[in-house]
Amino acid sequence: MLTRTDLRDRVPSAAELRAVLPRAEVDVDTVLHRVRPLVEEVRRYGVSAALDLTERFDGVRPARVRVPAQALADAERDLEPGVRSALVESISRATRVHAAQRRRDVTTQVVPGGTVTERWVPVARVGLYVPGGNAVYPSSVVMNVVPAQQAGVDSLVVCSPAQADFGGLPHPTILAACQLLGVTEVWAVGGAQAIALLAYGGQDTTGEDLVPVDLVTGPGNIYVTAAKRELRGLVGIDAEAGPTEIAVLADHTADPVHVAADLISQAEHDELAASVLVTTSSDLADAVDAELARRVPATRHSERVRTALSGAQSGCVLVADLTDGLRVVDAYAAEHLEIQTEDAGAVAARVRNAGAVFVGAHSPVSLGDYCAGSNHVLPTGGCARHSGGLSVQSFLRGIHVVDYSEQALRDVADVVVALAEAEDLPAHGQAVTARFRPESGASS
Ligand code: NAD
Repeated sequence: MLTRTDLRDRVPSAAELRAVLPRAEVDVDTVLHRVRPLVEEVRRYGVSAALDLTERFDGVRPARVRVPAQALADAERDLEPGVRSALVESISRATRVHAAQRRRDVTTQVVPGGTVTERWVPVARVGLYVPGGNAVYPSSVVMNVVPAQQAGVDSLVVCSPAQADFGGLPHPTILAACQLLGVTEVWAVGGAQAIALLAYGGQDTTGEDLVPVDLVTGPGNIYVTAAKRELRGLVGIDAEAGPTEIAVLADHTADPVHVAADLISQAEHDELAASVLVTTSSDLADAVDAELARRVPATRHSERVRTALSGAQSGCVLVADLTDGLRVVDAYAAEHLEIQTEDAGAVAARVRNAGAVFVGAHSPVSLGDYCAGSNHVLPTGGCARHSGGLSVQSFLRGIHVVDYSEQALRDVADVVVALAEAEDLPAHGQAVTARFRPESGASS
């Protein structure tokens, strides 16, 4: 079922490997020209433009965009108990992990009387986008809100599309998740218009202000991504999320049922999702194919899964040994990487490039999607070669605070002057020497 590439003779270079495992084509540029006018409309006309666009794309025109507090409370009250306790557990685990991640301020005494402190300061106001076009993602509320809260962000606003089926409010499960997390500011707006409203701000029909944010995070479809690209700079953005990916590095000890189930679990997201198996065992590859043939027709989204698994972005790569397998998965840099091998912990420790690593038989990616405690907003499209996933750090800025005494500055003045002269910027040096040699003509 998975297209097979045999690299047991030789593992090609990283550049060649990209051709063996190509990424799905998602060209954000192709929709930029359609998104630009939408962003411009919101810049000029604020909430009234956002409402027009909501009516056009979501088929509903809410009377107000800011979700009333009562609607949030009602949604939590009406939440199905099983979903409620699952969300509470997910929040609790994510909070435990993210609370432990927060960096501490570090002061270094560079010389006597001279210190540099790296102070980690939260972004003041953050907009979190929670998708709501084709599916409902309460887990995305948890994965965006928890790290922001743990970073100490004071002001959080969530935007999620207005739903015609729910009277122009976002989906009630999204609202309930916000209420459980203590998020009080939620706006019923989605797509590019939501990102533009977060960036430019606006005033609701009720007179309430949506104050512009400093940073936007959260996944979304191609229009959301295009708007983020368009507005990057005016606001910070987390990343451009592409279709989801799973790579499984497995040997003969892996259970083909586990491997097949995990490949299907990510293919279920999207027809463009990538499911990749890298294995030392052709017997395992055969058994996984047989298991996929059995499971795919029985799964709820079988057509979507079949399309994803048969796409050029999915496949199976046979390698001679695990060292070669690690070269392949490092070159691929998957969003999610499972290690299903003998001594999986030791193999996982050798991985250089992955958004998140899932070790052994009992750490499937779907655990991480919901309630491992880790974050599920992860780099896609090979970006794991240079970036990590969403974390507390994403919501903090490191500010260097420089504090030198008079003597400490005097001691280093010649160094500053020499470097300033070398750069032909003498006024830089004079800004130091002026403190020690009063300049002629200067008033006392
Ligand atoms: P969405 O909320 O991102 O987009 C829906 C909005 O798109 C609508 O509100 C509408 O205003 C706008 N829109 C629809 N058609 C449009 C058009 N023709 N022109 C302009 N705007 C239009 O929801 P979605 O569509 O379901 O997409 C969600 C995406 O987020 C999926 O790709 C999903 O896989 C991804 N996702 C990723 C993660 C992650 O952690 N990486 C988590 C959850 C979801």
